[in-house]
Amino acid sequence: MKNRWDTELAKKFAAESELGLRVYSSNLLGADPDLVLHGGGNTSVKGEVKDVFGQLQKVLFVKGSGWDLRTIEEQGFPPVRLDYLQRLGALDSLSDSEMMRQLRLALLDPSGPTPSVEAILHALIPHKYVDHTHADAVVTISNSPNGEQILWELYGEEVLILPYIMPGFILARQVAAATSDLDWSSIRGIILLHHGIFTFDDDARASYDAMIELVDRAEQFLQEHASTAVSCAAVAGTECDLLTLAAMRKAAGAQFGGPVLARFDHAEEAAGFAMRDNAGELATRGPLTPDHTIHCKAFAARLGADPVSDLEDFAAIYRRYFDEFSTTNHQCLDTMPRYAVWQGKGMVYFAANHQRLQIVEDISSHTIRAIQQAEALGGWQALPRSDLFEVEHWELEQAKLKAGNKRGKFEGQVALVSGAASGIGKACVEALRKQGAVVAALDIAPEILSASNDPALLPLQCDVTCTEAIREAVARVVCKFGGIDLLVSNAGNFPASASLGQLDDKTWQQSLDLNLSSHMKLLRACLPFLELGFKPAVIMVGSKNVPAPGPGAAAYSTAKAGLTQLARVAALELGASGIRVNTVHPNAVYDTALWNDEVLAQRAAHYGKSVEDYRKSNVLRTELNSADVANSIVALLGDEFAKTTGEQIAIDGGNDRVI
Ligand code: ZN
Repeated sequence: MKNRWDTELAKKFAAESELGLRVYSSNLLGADPDLVLHGGGNTSVKGEVKDVFGQLQKVLFVKGSGWDLRTIEEQGFPPVRLDYLQRLGALDSLSDSEMMRQLRLALLDPSGPTPSVEAILHALIPHKYVDHTHADAVVTISNSPNGEQILWELYGEEVLILPYIMPGFILARQVAAATSDLDWSSIRGIILLHHGIFTFDDDARASYDAMIELVDRAEQFLQEHASTAVSCAAVAGTECDLLTLAAMRKAAGAQFGGPVLARFDHAEEAAGFAMRDNAGELATRGPLTPDHTIHCKAFAARLGADPVSDLEDFAAIYRRYFDEFSTTNHQCLDTMPRYAVWQGKGMVYFAANHQRLQIVEDISSHTIRAIQQAEALGGWQALPRSDLFEVEHWELEQAKLKAGNKRGKFEGQVALVSGAASGIGKACVEALRKQGAVVAALDIAPEILSASNDPALLPLQCDVTCTEAIREAVARVVCKFGGIDLLVSNAGNFPASASLGQLDDKTWQQSLDLNLSSHMKLLRACLPFLELGFKPAVIMVGSKNVPAPGPGAAAYSTAKAGLTQLARVAALELGASGIRVNTVHPNAVYDTALWNDEVLAQRAAHYGKSVEDYRKSNVLRTELNSADVANSIVALLGDEFAKTTGEQIAIDGGNDRVI
């Protein structure tokens, strides 16, 4: 375990504010995924603030709910009255909802975030700085048959080891009882079996150092006793697997109650785990720490030769688990698994959106490593299901998830846009992202690869006139997001003007290849996935030249007319599968790659107009840009046009030759 403390940087943070060092060492803990994953863990510091009467109040600045240690800032540590928290900690009982009400009452800043559910416990620890993580190595050891014994041998009297208990008020009471006769200066930390570790000190660095040093000891132990435990294997996914994945995604969405994303992970550790004979059974035993249940449920699904029906089996198993442990207060969550072992192939992840998909992937990869290490120590022992159920269905945790429940219009849907590096394609990518879709952005231009670092965007350099290149691109999209629902077939170019007498074969053929045939090839490759998609819809980007061709543009106009006809046939053929296919005919969109100032000036002069007038030479006397076209395309892809297919829509400000 690497100690990341940087004295110079720490000085800078300390100089910036009272809470500088608290922010700094929290960020350091959060930066190590082996200590803290996605909102896990919490930290605090005790201090003073002056109230409006000029009196100093002793407070606990504790991590607020909704903040992540990796990125937490000063505002993420609301001040809470310390004596109030300590008095709460002395109560015999306190219900969860009353505790949360009291925590908000004890806030000195009513606009601050709700204090962590562990705030009372932090207040009971008499040291200034308190750090809490769910360190993989410590929890992994505690999840093995002799875990407690091993931890004793590793830490002796330095650390207080406590049995698992539900987080929140009762955990605070457990720690208070266990430490009532204890000299706090005699211990450096507390280990909560199956949960995590606390360290503390009056000095920020000493508390951080203790965390790193204690966890490092557990890591060293695993290195010595389980270093070869984690299997790796090379398994290549096949096209058939991808179709099965898309079918699984569809089935998972039905269990979830709306569009979801899926991901097939056959990287070496995921494949290595899935190759183990007992991988399915191991993954269903339970998670690394109970707080993972909030993101990933209490157990994984096991998938075999018929994974779609295995998903149905999971739903039945999950419902039985719910019935076994629920009381009237509980509400059954959806029955979609979040991660699954696909026996012999790899891991599969399911989630409502790309952020959650990444969380599931990260938790799964840490969990399968821990499972195998604990197996090497004698066997993976997760907590009993009853304990997992309590945390998974804990109202306080479910409230966190519900807070972000309002879904974007296209959330959970996967869009593919061709010609995405500039103009209308780029604008479509942006509009679809804004409304929650994940987007595969294809373009032949290499700039596409460096256009953005948005994790919900999959940029792919692809020549859409090449069948093989399309096949590879589609495979990458499906592997990463689980399928394809929306296709904006937009790639095109405008060949140099040439009358029929001057038109050469090459220009003609290239225009047909890109402006017509590539669209057929892309649609054909996406088709099996669209058939398994959520509310699937296709937009072909045509041109005003279809209804109103111009002289000198035979190669372009003919190809675009063919494309329009292709879309009409596709609408007829695919309607039975629920796939809508519509065409848009944009015109005079001057912020695309087809135009530049020089061409614009030439065309304006040709018609005897100023550039300004030429730009607005349409019925509405309005100027069009790529974003206008993208907005119309995105509307056509959405529910507003759920009953429209085979249609052609002009986006041109009104053209008197077309009207
Ligand atoms: Zn915890």
